[in-house]
Amino acid sequence: MRRGASIAPERQGGVAQMRHVAIIGSGPAGYYTAEALQKLYGDSVAIDMIDRLPVPYGLIRSGVAPDHQSIKAVYKRYEKVALSPNVRFVGNVCVGPDVTVADLVELYDAIVFATGAPNDRPLGLPGSDLPGVVGSAAFVGWYNGHPDFADLDPPLDVAAAAVIGNGNVALDVARILAKTRSEFAGSDIVGRALDALEASSIRTIHVLGRRGPHQIAMTPKELGELGHLEAAAPRVDLADFPPQADDALLEPGMRKSVSHLRDFAGLPRDKPKLIDFDFFAMPVAVEGEGRVERLIVERTKLTEDLRSVGTGERYAVECGLVVSCIGYQTPPIEGVPYEHGRGRFANQDGVIGGGLYAVGWARRGPTGTIGTNRPDGFEVADTIFAAYPPEGGSKTGGPGLDTLLHARGVEPVAFRDWQRIEAAETGRAREGSPREKFTSIAEMIAALGR
Ligand SMILES: Cc1cc2nc3c(=O)[nH]c(=O)nc-3n(C[C@H](O)[C@H](O)[C@H](O)COP(=O)(O)OP(=O)(O)OC[C@H]3O[C@@H](n4cnc5c(N)ncnc54)[C@H](O)[C@@H]3O)c2cc1C
Repeated sequence: MRRGASIAPERQGGVAQMRHVAIIGSGPAGYYTAEALQKLYGDSVAIDMIDRLPVPYGLIRSGVAPDHQSIKAVYKRYEKVALSPNVRFVGNVCVGPDVTVADLVELYDAIVFATGAPNDRPLGLPGSDLPGVVGSAAFVGWYNGHPDFADLDPPLDVAAAAVIGNGNVALDVARILAKTRSEFAGSDIVGRALDALEASSIRTIHVLGRRGPHQIAMTPKELGELGHLEAAAPRVDLADFPPQADDALLEPGMRKSVSHLRDFAGLPRDKPKLIDFDFFAMPVAVEGEGRVERLIVERTKLTEDLRSVGTGERYAVECGLVVSCIGYQTPPIEGVPYEHGRGRFANQDGVIGGGLYAVGWARRGPTGTIGTNRPDGFEVADTIFAAYPPEGGSKTGGPGLDTLLHARGVEPVAFRDWQRIEAAETGRAREGSPREKFTSIAEMIAALGR
């Protein structure tokens, strides 16, 4: 047990005056907020970054696609923040069951919720509780080794899958379903998922969007990749597109995305797998005997203000797996006001009230890229700094938390512990892969010899 091992000596003496901030969540939003607080306060702040998992980095580890290692490399920037003396990682501690918000209010000047939006928005269709319907948080978590989803075992012994959504997460899911084993070289997809995907019988991946090609939320780089897959080719129907001249009205990124989509129409159909873009397609029901067998879809059209409305025309998409990529929600935490309609903490510019703040997806909802969380965290850090000037704190912060966790028998994982987990993951990686992740908390803790 290494309780308090990472508390810097200079923090111990300054407990009475310095400010103590707890950041809940160690994803991008948490780290950018910590970085900003460090810049503002210098040595006058002590930051505890509490995460429910023994491993840091949130969706950088468990969301960003395993075959996009250059994007995942952003964690190196967070590592610098994590290793600085006034930031401490307190992993394996879940705010809610292990430590309450009321506990934290006693111990810290400010508490920042950077808990992301890890729950899938429910599909909410008749039949969507059938086996074989999974949310993208679960599916992505499965191939990325998130302990909550390691045992998902999605049905891949089927001929076709339907991916619902027209954003980058849908693209990630379609690409992962389409890739060959060799195309995962250099990735850190977990071995079990890689084996299952290699054995998959899926040959057609339908990507369904309620609106048209001009309304997608897919970025050009991710879309362009689909045109270069080893064993899969994308297909679009040019009849779904507005006149080409209209592309000129799009902003440049979107124009590039649409241009990739148009190019897909000219690609040869000589590969065994197909990624079929189905626009103006609104799923209305899932059907099957004991498991998914088909998705019932209603054709849509656009209104003048670009909303989609059903036309009444329905058809069936035969598929044995449905992955819904329709957005996420932040789980509520007792003691934190919640905005149910938007699935996030109730906040005004990141301020919840009573010393509580929200950043990242817990603040804004599940939109934007990794980089979007930076200005967000910096803005909230400015607000905290204005409310709690560097001198004048009287809270106990980290040492108080350690006492409380010890009394409750909760064993936190420090950043140096995580580095030992990381080294163990690197040590057992298959050839060419940066790591083979542990997919259960028990395995992670066992790697520490506890
Ligand atoms: C599938 C997918 C792929 C993506 N790919 C890209 C990409 O390629 N490029 C890009 O720019 N963006 C990508 N994004 C978006 C990016 O991941 C997010 O913008 C970013 O991760 C949001 O950061 P966050 O810190 O708000 O939340 P998260 O990254 O989700 O971090 C939240 C953290 O809070 C912790 N936590 C939650 N609840 C508790 C609790 N009660 N107690 C303690 N800890 C808790 C979690 O364990 C987690 O570590 C992707 C998102 C998804 C879902």
